[in-house]
Amino acid sequence: MSLDCCIIGGGIIGLSIARELAGRGRSVRVLAREGRRETASWAAAGIFPPVPDPAAVAGDANAVLTAWSDSLHRHWARELVAETRLDNGLFACGGLHVAAAGAGLERLRRDAEVWHAKGVRCEWLEASGLAAVEPALAGAVAAGRVEGGILLPDEMRIRPPRHLEALERSCAGRGVSLSHDSEVTGITVAGGRVNGLEVRSPQGAETVVAGSYVLAAGAWSGPLAESIGLAIDTRPIRGQIALLRLPQQVLGRIVNRGLDYLVPRDDGRILAGSTLEDVGFDRATVPTDIARLLAVAAELVGDLAGATVEKTWAGLRPGSADGLPSIGRVPGKENVIVAAGHFRAGLHQSPGTAVIVADLLEGKSPPLDIGPFAPGRAIGPPGPASTATLVARAAAER
Ligand SMILES: Cc1cc2nc3c(=O)[nH]c(=O)nc-3n(C[C@H](O)[C@H](O)[C@H](O)COP(=O)(O)OP(=O)(O)OC[C@H]3O[C@@H](n4cnc5c(N)ncnc54)[C@H](O)[C@@H]3O)c2cc1C
Repeated sequence: MSLDCCIIGGGIIGLSIARELAGRGRSVRVLAREGRRETASWAAAGIFPPVPDPAAVAGDANAVLTAWSDSLHRHWARELVAETRLDNGLFACGGLHVAAAGAGLERLRRDAEVWHAKGVRCEWLEASGLAAVEPALAGAVAAGRVEGGILLPDEMRIRPPRHLEALERSCAGRGVSLSHDSEVTGITVAGGRVNGLEVRSPQGAETVVAGSYVLAAGAWSGPLAESIGLAIDTRPIRGQIALLRLPQQVLGRIVNRGLDYLVPRDDGRILAGSTLEDVGFDRATVPTDIARLLAVAAELVGDLAGATVEKTWAGLRPGSADGLPSIGRVPGKENVIVAAGHFRAGLHQSPGTAVIVADLLEGKSPPLDIGPFAPGRAIGPPGPASTATLVARAAAER
């Protein structure tokens, strides 16, 4: 049977695109080099910050994509339950962003004004107010480690592994073929088109031919794109997380302090994350980094000093030099689309990315301006959301 589309990458971006395309009646194959636990998507924390009305952020392409994807997530979560009986745990648990006195607190006051200006529900709380809404912070408040912060009632969480599994099941139900052990080792180009993918798997080597191809290989997309003459920077940025367990759940909301966070889960566990490290394709966890995450967790919530560390892991975020993903056609290659470089927001932006890619493959104009995401665009100096800026800030805050 001829294949309409072959997608390189079985993370959240590749699977979301596969699901959308298959839902539109296309025959799709997904090639992934490794199992889902090795992806950034599986490793993610699953925080969805509240989003403004897209009209309030018109002109900020990344914010528009996130806001639109946020609304699609609500539909997708319901559809996924209906199709797969798996609940991805999408839930508006709310979030607190807290700081001690000093520069962090000043930054939060400015952030609160920005949230307000964008029409996002947001309340400034002094220390006593924070302890009142989230009693687990009372010890940190009493010790002066938390002196104020922002309550964002619409911050959401999702369970990334469950979402991935639900997407895989939905894809299977829609006829998508997915292999987790198939590495694309070469891309054959002729006459301005990709003619096939060289694939290696335990079954041997094969050439996979399709009408169109999507490059959605996360942090590994840069090198693959380079092999077809496209320069995109999807530099891997490692993030480490520790999974903590207490006899009972003590947190209701996500707690963010600087770039660190605690995410309560409905099974009683708490995720403590995360690092932002530019260390190449190294997915190991480092004891000293995990110790720092545990120390931050205990500083915020004293009870966590006695928590059991159930698991630790790391994932490689696909970085982006200007803080924007690359989504669009590859210049000079008429049947290839790239969807990569979503950095810290790939889970959140995945359904919107999927609809954009499916529209492009069907020759339709996507419902938002994707010009700023053009693969191979000229990249200026690092902006506030760029990989380089955030990695530098993470290093300075340590
Ligand atoms: C610690 C951490 C916390 C995060 N928290 C959040 C969060 O709270 N909210 C949020 O929205 N985002 C978060 N992210 C970011 C998010 O996880 C990523 O942006 C997103 O998962 C990227 O998805 P992806 O599909 O592009 O890449 P990946 O999930 O990494 O998938 C890449 C896929 O490509 C495949 N592949 C690579 N090379 C080849 C090849 N040669 N041949 C075949 N297949 C190949 C891999 O096997 C894999 O299947 C976090 C990330 C980390 C690491």
